[in-house]
Amino acid sequence: MSERKVRVRFAPSPTGALHIGGVRTALYNYLFARQHGGDFIFRLEDTDSQRFVPGAEEYILESFNWLNIKFDEGVTFGGEHGPYRQSERREIYKKYVQVLLDNGKAYIAFDTPEELDAKRNEIANFQYDASTRMQMRNSLTLSKEEVAALIAEGKQYVVRFKIEPNEDVHVDDLIRGDVVINSSVLDDKVLFKSADELPTYHLANIVDDHLMEVSHVIRGEEWLPSAPLHVLLYRAFGWEDTMPVFAHLPLLLKPEGNGKLSKRDGDRLGFPVFPLQWTDPKTEEVSSGYREAGYLPEAVLNFLALLGWNPGNDQEIMSMDEMIKLFDLARCSKSGAKFDYKKGIWFNHQYIQAKSNEEIAEMFVPVLAEHGVTAPMDKVVAVVGLTKERVNFVKELWDASSFFFVAPAKYDEKTVKKRWKEDSAKCMLELAEVLSGISDFSPQEQEKVVMDWIAAKEYHTGNIMNAFRLALVGEGKGPHMFDISWVLGKEETLARIMCAVEVLG
Ligand code: GLU
Repeated sequence: MSERKVRVRFAPSPTGALHIGGVRTALYNYLFARQHGGDFIFRLEDTDSQRFVPGAEEYILESFNWLNIKFDEGVTFGGEHGPYRQSERREIYKKYVQVLLDNGKAYIAFDTPEELDAKRNEIANFQYDASTRMQMRNSLTLSKEEVAALIAEGKQYVVRFKIEPNEDVHVDDLIRGDVVINSSVLDDKVLFKSADELPTYHLANIVDDHLMEVSHVIRGEEWLPSAPLHVLLYRAFGWEDTMPVFAHLPLLLKPEGNGKLSKRDGDRLGFPVFPLQWTDPKTEEVSSGYREAGYLPEAVLNFLALLGWNPGNDQEIMSMDEMIKLFDLARCSKSGAKFDYKKGIWFNHQYIQAKSNEEIAEMFVPVLAEHGVTAPMDKVVAVVGLTKERVNFVKELWDASSFFFVAPAKYDEKTVKKRWKEDSAKCMLELAEVLSGISDFSPQEQEKVVMDWIAAKEYHTGNIMNAFRLALVGEGKGPHMFDISWVLGKEETLARIMCAVEVLG
């Protein structure tokens, strides 16, 4: 028998911003598809009109665009198995609901919400299933004529899945192994509602996975309870042979490890739980995003990849190609993964270091512009080279390097007290003399000439360099001294020395 082509899907419901856990699910599907030369499908599960949120679809697509995760087919991507928005597939689902009705695997139920409530009051722990269905108003208890008459009258109904009791249902999960549950705990799930002529999640999900020839269903742990029902649905349709392989990913946990990660944890500890900033269209509440917080998409993906999976060794930094090569569902953990957001910051730091100074400089230019600074590119590149190891985010480069672009407007008092001595003004004037005589203003040449001068004068190196730094930077921080003066250039260096002498005396 020939191996089935790997086809996986990411199938979000457009109910709001995409949670970071959903991004991880999509990433794992993507890695799996690429590794196997398979297809990655983007399907929108939008049959629940109650929960539909405008803008969510666009938001989700923009998120993957930013992350550079590409789909092979699906909403906006084309493909042979469309349409890929479930709301555009009504006719297809109707046909398959009819198949289940015709072969006796499903039935029509007319019970009103009031009637269901009454039953709940009458029977403790009421569940619509084999033990109760014969007491209800449905096509199993009503005659054919009665059913036809009710439908003709325009009475609303639902179609329910007729689950046979007392059967062990096995879900073969690549991560969790053989998951068994007895069918008696399942209720006769609603598959279709006449009110909006739309299927529920379960039916649409199964029919589409089948029609779209999905080979593997890789999704979050929260869908594990639906899996036995899905297995039964596959069987009811007679599609056992093409049933996808399941893999339910571990939950993302709070940084402290106690319970499921929520948006509130992000608000509480100050990290985003969404890829992009999101404005709730109803409440206008704004939630932060990884993009706007200054994370590099590669860093976010690398960070997420390791939440629930590892390559079997200590390797943490992995390019997309490496992740595609190394990814293995069998190495995903069953237990939840703590969302260690500080590790995310560490990844961002690492990815900034790995990028060229030129690339980071390109990203820094808009930050400079926000502060009203324009500077020649070669200077920005040099500054980035001297300061990037100190930052976790590109925007932090401003605090680490603003003195390169703007002369100090004031001098830090504490540093002045400690570093600006009796004779500092005199020494700085002499230093200015010495520096003005240097034609090759490279850090090496400056250092040689200045050190010779200090030695000849028997000055204290520390005192000279501290005063020099204070004059150029305005405080006691910054990279190597002669790197600073080199980037500033001779003219600016001398001007800053003269200014400090004048102000500090
Ligand atoms: N629509 C479901 C979701 O929002 C899809 C679950 C699945 O992958 O089967 O995640």
